[in-house]
Amino acid sequence: MGEERVDELLGAMALDEKAALCHGRDLWTIDGCERIGVPSWTVSDGPIGIRGRRSTRTACFPSASAIAATFDPDLVREVGVAIGHEALAKNVQMALGPTVNLHRHPLTGRHFECYSEDPELTAQVAVAYIDGVQSTGVGACIKHFVANDQEQERFTISADVDERTLRELYLRPFEDAVTQAHVWGVMGAYNFVNGVHACAHPELLQGVLKDEWGFAGLVVSDWAALKDGVGPGRHGLDLEMPGPGAFFGAGRLAALVRAGEVPEAEVDDKARRILAFLDWCGALDGTQSTEAELDTPEQRSVARRAAAASMVLLTNDGTLPLEPAALASVAVIGPNAAETAALGGGSATVSPYYTVSILDGLRARLGEGVEVTHAVGCSIRRAVPAMADEDLAPGRFTVEAFSGGTTDGEPVAVLTGQSARGFRGAESWPGAELPVILRGRATFLTPSAGTWRFTGGGLHHTRLWLDDGPATDAEPATDNMAAGAINAGLGNHAGVTERVLEEGQPVELTFEYEVPPGMPVALYTMGAGLLGDDPEADAQAQIAAAVEAARSADLAVVVVGSNDEWESEGADRADLDLPGDQDELIRAVVAANPRTVIIHNSGSPMAMPWADDVAAIVQAWYPGQEGGNAVADVLIGDVDPSGRMPTTWPKRIEDTPAYDWYPGEGGHVRYGEGLLVGYRGFEARGVEPLWAFGHGLSYTTFEWNEVAADGDSATLEVVNTGDRAGTEVVQAYVAALDRPVDGPPQVLAGFAKVALGPREARRVRVELSPAAFRRWDTEAQAWVVDPGRYDVRLGRSSGDIVATRTIGVEVPR
Ligand code: BGC
Repeated sequence: MGEERVDELLGAMALDEKAALCHGRDLWTIDGCERIGVPSWTVSDGPIGIRGRRSTRTACFPSASAIAATFDPDLVREVGVAIGHEALAKNVQMALGPTVNLHRHPLTGRHFECYSEDPELTAQVAVAYIDGVQSTGVGACIKHFVANDQEQERFTISADVDERTLRELYLRPFEDAVTQAHVWGVMGAYNFVNGVHACAHPELLQGVLKDEWGFAGLVVSDWAALKDGVGPGRHGLDLEMPGPGAFFGAGRLAALVRAGEVPEAEVDDKARRILAFLDWCGALDGTQSTEAELDTPEQRSVARRAAAASMVLLTNDGTLPLEPAALASVAVIGPNAAETAALGGGSATVSPYYTVSILDGLRARLGEGVEVTHAVGCSIRRAVPAMADEDLAPGRFTVEAFSGGTTDGEPVAVLTGQSARGFRGAESWPGAELPVILRGRATFLTPSAGTWRFTGGGLHHTRLWLDDGPATDAEPATDNMAAGAINAGLGNHAGVTERVLEEGQPVELTFEYEVPPGMPVALYTMGAGLLGDDPEADAQAQIAAAVEAARSADLAVVVVGSNDEWESEGADRADLDLPGDQDELIRAVVAANPRTVIIHNSGSPMAMPWADDVAAIVQAWYPGQEGGNAVADVLIGDVDPSGRMPTTWPKRIEDTPAYDWYPGEGGHVRYGEGLLVGYRGFEARGVEPLWAFGHGLSYTTFEWNEVAADGDSATLEVVNTGDRAGTEVVQAYVAALDRPVDGPPQVLAGFAKVALGPREARRVRVELSPAAFRRWDTEAQAWVVDPGRYDVRLGRSSGDIVATRTIGVEVPR
């Protein structure tokens, strides 16, 4: 079987058939070779669940920054297994995740979708996730290779990174994914690396990934990332997505071979990799396209445990854990209390089976003995919301697709019952010639009287008409505006029109959307939102109601943060501030009731100018479908808070090590901070962060005894000195003392998460990664270990070192 079967299939295929394996058919499916029984197969976003081909509902796990905050590879492996099971239920062969780009800068739109600033933590979490997914027979596709660390100019920017930094930081998670987890897919990024496009990079794709690391799987392009066919054809890009494939599709790859521009051996290699994957995952024995839901108690349990384990207790004056029996009333306040953000925006968005808000989770856990009141406090809505299905008659939008860039003539396809949000590919306009124009029509039945705002926008040129007049005429997309921008910034990119309407008044809607050849996907949203009469007075009244609720309760829980309109693929944030009037809301509530606990529901760093004035702060991330229950588990103390910060949070944006270099200019972003990303940079410059890397409190106390270390591991005894069960995260950092060249002050080498009962003691061993002792020598083009003294520092965060042992490394390891 295995190799023989692949050889046999390959031998039976003509050039055109092999080349046809190397591009998609539509957004998510790839054709096989029917003549010899190779079936079509499917890939799907995305890292926190599985959408499938039709955006079917899925289990929704916490987003990546939360997953990394668990510091718990065993639990992450369980999440990976659960995602594998979702993929199997939806007949998906490859899951498009994990995302392992580093947290280089806190404002980047996909920060929530990436694990950490640290390559060791990122690598360990990614390996566990991939192991879990692939143990179910589903492939994982790690992304985005490489240095895809910002959304600004994301399709064109060149990340200019020196070789040592690239090796030691940005490539590291990919290296472990290939050499340790044997990941089947690697996604080539949109950006350029040192001037060469990431999907056509001979040194990186062929040299490092395939030749040096021995990657045996396939390199998939990011969606519409290719800029030409020859470079990717020659230099190791195996599968162009989405279909039909602007550069490999419609016989173009085979034609490049016939023209002598791409060697046939390259196409053989691509086809072999794809067939080997299909053989491994069992697809060669047949695939199906049905999609089932898998909302089981097991999936729910993984989602809840992962979310609870990710919560970071940032400060606590003893107010937490709450004792329901000692509370008569709790005011649950804030924009994210009832509308908790379970996930972020862009391609990582999934449609969860259900979500539990923090308000509902707390209500359920506090029980009937505690009176729970709620006040929203302020709004953080940024965009005009998408039109609701029930406001669109008759039967939502009917969308016609026209071929060849003109609406003259008959449409090639008519889609009925479409929502105001669309994400479609070639499956919706089979056989049509690009550009394709989509024209949608529906009637908006005004649900209540007042001033309404309308807008329409999308990845490409989008226009919306109301009745017979133009309402908006969005400019064609700029580089900054992509998949997530429409989820996020609807209304930022399209014009907005206001109309005063009566309840029930019908408004005829027409939109047109142009799908160009270069990026053959349609991604649009039509929005309609009711404006208040006096927004300023409304805002003051909302804060006053929140203050009143806080004053009359025993305790206030204020749930602040952001959501997918602020944190999304496609757009970076403008600043570190909490959106809207949330800082003001917190100050007003604390003034009314000093027993105020903050639940911070964001995927990325935010400023917290009030941090010293509140009773406690819990960082709750984007916690997925079980978020509200998980917050209740931690607040009430059913679960000890055991999450730790996976990234340093700055006090001010200017303190970020990459600050001077971001977002770049003239099409280049130079990674001028080099190796000094995150805590490495804060420590090198002696800058105090808001929250240090690795920081997080417990409800109990621990003592560390009998610390010892050698070059492979550190050992110690951890004692829970308190009266309640708790979890400690021991972190090991390594500092090179005699290094002949500059390097970071210290680097994370390993960690261990230990759950202990009251007064329990246990011996703990922390494995030290060999990567913490090596450095990339650009002259030798090799990894070297400098002999000499190294500190092994054990700490509760990068800034809180408890014990240090100095060891000698004699011989190169
Ligand atoms: C994203 C990828 C994603 C792909 C498919 C792209 O915009 O960068 O991460 O897998 O879309 O949705």
